[in-house]
Amino acid sequence: MPELPEVETIKNQLLTEFSNCEVQVFESRTLHLIKKAPTLKSLNTSLSGQRIRDIKRYGKFLLFEFDRAVLRIHLGMSGRMRIIEPSKYLEFKHIHLTIKFKNGLTLAYIDPRRFGSIEVVNPDFKIPPKLGPDALDLKLGNKLLSSQKLKSSVPIKLKLLDQSLVAGIGNIYSDEILYRSHLSPLRKATSLSGDEILYLTKNIRKVLKQAIRQSGSTLQDGGYVDLYGANGKFQNYHLIHAKSTCTACQSHVSRVKLGGRSCYYCSMCQH
Ligand SMILES: [Zn+2]
Repeated sequence: MPELPEVETIKNQLLTEFSNCEVQVFESRTLHLIKKAPTLKSLNTSLSGQRIRDIKRYGKFLLFEFDRAVLRIHLGMSGRMRIIEPSKYLEFKHIHLTIKFKNGLTLAYIDPRRFGSIEVVNPDFKIPPKLGPDALDLKLGNKLLSSQKLKSSVPIKLKLLDQSLVAGIGNIYSDEILYRSHLSPLRKATSLSGDEILYLTKNIRKVLKQAIRQSGSTLQDGGYVDLYGANGKFQNYHLIHAKSTCTACQSHVSRVKLGGRSCYYCSMCQH
């Protein structure tokens, strides 16, 4: 699943390519297969002929800002945004939406598992209501220290995945952040001291920033690629996720299921 660093990478590339570009038309035959999507007609009524004024990211959401509306896209489990040449259209599977621009470029939304979402929203409500602060929010430390959501016996790993506490972190980066913070993913959130929360916050920022510099992570399943089809490189810097031995102490890495996902940690280094 694309997490903050992957979405940020795509957002930056989209900005380079599509800033101030005018949408000519949205095309699709399978938009209704996406978990949450408007009709093609309503997309064209609200946004064709309009220019993209800015493109932002909040948590794992992409926000295409037009003059009177925002196109909000979440890539779900397997969503991708790709620039495609019309002549190569047939080489791509699972294209569920194409956006043709007046300058001749075509942007495609590709989503094999179809868990993504596409919405047109009022600019005043562009950030989904239940999301917590963005994981790169400069005041995240204070916000987490005062959050009632951490006064909970739920494991800290699941709290990091809770988008209403902090938006943007998923399974891979939560493993890497907890490892670098020397915190066991199984620790009850409420057992963390103020200093531990601040150290965790520092590592959230550090890991996500490093991952953005490496254009995100592409695992063996090849799930994530950027706007041009290139892999991320941060998987080469993973220290714990999907590893068998701990990089620091060479112990066997523990793997447990938490919230339906595989969580990796070192029981010697993380407490
Ligand atoms: Zn270890």
